[in-house]
Amino acid sequence: MEIIEIFETMEYSPAPENPALALEWLKEHKSKFGLFINGKWCKAKSGKVFSTDNPASGKKLASISEAGKSDVDSAVRAAKLAFPKWKALSGHERARYLYALARQLQKHSRLFAVLETMDNGKTIRETRDIDIPLVIRHFYHHAGWAQLLESEFPEHTAFGPVGQIIPWNFPLLMLSWKVAPALAAGNTVVLKPAEYTSLTALLFAEICSQVGLPPGVFNLVTGPGQTGSLMVNHSDLKKIAFTGSTDVGRLIREATADTDKKLTLELGGKSPFIIFEDADLDSAIEGLVDAIWFNQGQVCCAGSRLLVHESVAKKVIDRLKRRMAKLRVGDPLDKSMDMGAIIAPIQKERIQNLVDQGKKEGAAIWQWEGKLPQNAEKKGDGCYFPPTLFTNVSPASIIAQTEIFGPVLVSMTFRTPDEAVMLANNSAYGLAASVWSENINQALHVAPKLKAGVVWINCTNQFDASVGFGGYRESGYGREGGHEGMFEYLKPKKSGISKNQIRISVAKVKASATTSLSLDRTAKLYIGGKQARPDSGYSLNVVNADGSLAGEIGDGNRKDIRNAVEAAHKASGWQSSTPHLRAQILYFLAENLETRAVEFKNRITQLTGVTEKQAALEVKTAVSRIFTYAALADKHEGLIHQPPMRGLALALNEPIGVLGLVCPDEAPLLSMLSMLLPAIAMGNSVVLVPSRPFALVATDFYQVLETSDVPSGVVNIVTGDSAKLGTVLAKHDDVAGLWVAGTKTECTEACKLSTGNMKIIWTNNGKQLDWFDNQQSEGREWMRRASQVKNVWIPYGE
Ligand code: NDP
Repeated sequence: MEIIEIFETMEYSPAPENPALALEWLKEHKSKFGLFINGKWCKAKSGKVFSTDNPASGKKLASISEAGKSDVDSAVRAAKLAFPKWKALSGHERARYLYALARQLQKHSRLFAVLETMDNGKTIRETRDIDIPLVIRHFYHHAGWAQLLESEFPEHTAFGPVGQIIPWNFPLLMLSWKVAPALAAGNTVVLKPAEYTSLTALLFAEICSQVGLPPGVFNLVTGPGQTGSLMVNHSDLKKIAFTGSTDVGRLIREATADTDKKLTLELGGKSPFIIFEDADLDSAIEGLVDAIWFNQGQVCCAGSRLLVHESVAKKVIDRLKRRMAKLRVGDPLDKSMDMGAIIAPIQKERIQNLVDQGKKEGAAIWQWEGKLPQNAEKKGDGCYFPPTLFTNVSPASIIAQTEIFGPVLVSMTFRTPDEAVMLANNSAYGLAASVWSENINQALHVAPKLKAGVVWINCTNQFDASVGFGGYRESGYGREGGHEGMFEYLKPKKSGISKNQIRISVAKVKASATTSLSLDRTAKLYIGGKQARPDSGYSLNVVNADGSLAGEIGDGNRKDIRNAVEAAHKASGWQSSTPHLRAQILYFLAENLETRAVEFKNRITQLTGVTEKQAALEVKTAVSRIFTYAALADKHEGLIHQPPMRGLALALNEPIGVLGLVCPDEAPLLSMLSMLLPAIAMGNSVVLVPSRPFALVATDFYQVLETSDVPSGVVNIVTGDSAKLGTVLAKHDDVAGLWVAGTKTECTEACKLSTGNMKIIWTNNGKQLDWFDNQQSEGREWMRRASQVKNVWIPYGE
């Protein structure tokens, strides 16, 4: 027999991983598990339990306590009580605990890997070689951040007890992404794993006991979505970190809208995988296998939309089908399987429904034709789904837009790089993207244009503890991992009211809408670099502190906001302008404001009734603040991460896009500029709603803008009823971020109404800031607020 024939007929023999360790662990616990609260194991007060099954066989693995309200209360109480001591430990002491956890995880890595595979259905190859090593790396890396906390983050401090809710697709890995940074920063934790996959979290809790982690620092409450909802609504949890579906992310945002809970949301995705004609096609196809069939496609950042250059499309699809035919789907504990089981029958059904939808929409389907395993327990179909490819897919179709969360790839073609970018960004999501081209100039040209929190160049599904992960748009906000991820578990030490607050009386203002009958003295809106009449034609009176009429402002409405948003989008060139140019323009702005300092001082005095001295201080501070942001414009640079690979990840600070700013009444010039400047220094364009009673300060200011070379459309000012206009901004789906400094009700409304496109939101939560305090009201914290980090992974070497 020729060697070639042996190669062609060679079949894999079974290569099962031994499950004995995991079975023994389950047996030790009689396959029954309680909750881990305050360092102790306890049953749920209700006595309720639920089962966890092995998706590969349908066999029950264990029964687990279902935490109800009183259990969640106990866990939060424990975390709250443990917080002061945990936070008071030195960074070094906390680092030792994290290091001990890393070592124990390392020691028990095989048990964790097998248990994860049995509970989740993903292959042992993945849990053993990817999930668990990354978990360990996370605890090592964050032991480092704990050690360096005081020197690296001197202005920041922990939140307190935090709630963390994780999904079933990477159970222990998601735990590590959340728990390691939270503990390193000095927070205490209440964690809820997904109902399908609690086992490795339970084993992790045992490890916490083994290393002597102080009681209450890590608490585990198992249960269904309802348990998560109890955490979300618990007033003593200071932050919620959530990974899961965009729908639940929205619910959480709405539920926490009237609180000052910090949120990070890592939600769904529909990530593009772009192959240019000059790509190394064989590598790209191997990448594609990893992108979409890794973890059965149940990956938030799965490369589920293939965009391929038309000139090589046929070649790529033919080769891909050949490669797909060779994939091995079956027992996840078999070491030579490429794909294991889908998490649960209901999820399989959901995938099937979407595939049926795709067929109905007219796309061409190609499926792996091997034999899928049967359900050993129930003798029916096993919980497996064949690798599936759709071609002839229209970009607007449901399968091209919806996250399928299964092993289903949809493919489309493009002709030019611009079209590739357009198709890639044609999604409500923005989690990740993969770009394949041997021309590094092309790849690096495309990467910044992609609306995604992670871009992998000539690679895919790379993760590391040192590199932030998280999305743009409806994929959520906040980053997990690395330097940028640490900020998600820390808050500025200084916040809230302090001595320089200005007392104003807005009660005197008669906010009556009136048509101006006499000479038109209305200060117009400022849209697209031009003064514009309000759509309504109405104006509002503005009165001075002494009750006399100061002037009139346009009564802006929904249509004016729409025009302003459109103008802001047209100014997108500002995003790609050089930081040096932005810095120069800001310096010039400062110079021009200073030239008119007396005029602004008088206006502020007359309108607000503060002393001339105070008003002069406000103008002087405003000029200095412009200088600060001119300085920061070219200094808020990114980082270069060095994950353990031959390559780098560039953590780029990018603008968010179009920002809506609703400004407060106090210190009207300074507060407005404190919000406007970081936004535009970072390259965002803005729609600004100034204080209603003191809007003339803003309309005076656009005359300064006009003389300062700020390009048209970068700053748009719409005057009127701020609460009403804020609501329009909150609901506008083309506004990417919203900052509201207003009353508590306005802030809550803004949070609730802006979930449509999951705007990145900041509010003052109804609390007055001290706009004169540089620590609170200017600097890098605001630049971070005005930006989002994109990590671009660049491997090198042959
Ligand atoms: P969910 O968003 O429902 O679940 C994620 C986590 O949130 C789980 O721990 C879940 O608990 C919990 N949860 C559910 N409802 C609430 C609630 N109202 N308040 C607080 N916590 C809650 O995702 P699913 O597991 O249902 O998956 C559905 C779809 O979500 C998938 O098909 C996929 O499209 C997407 N998904 C995305 C993930 C990602 O990483 N981006 C991960 C998982 C799913 P429990 O599981 O116990 O119900």
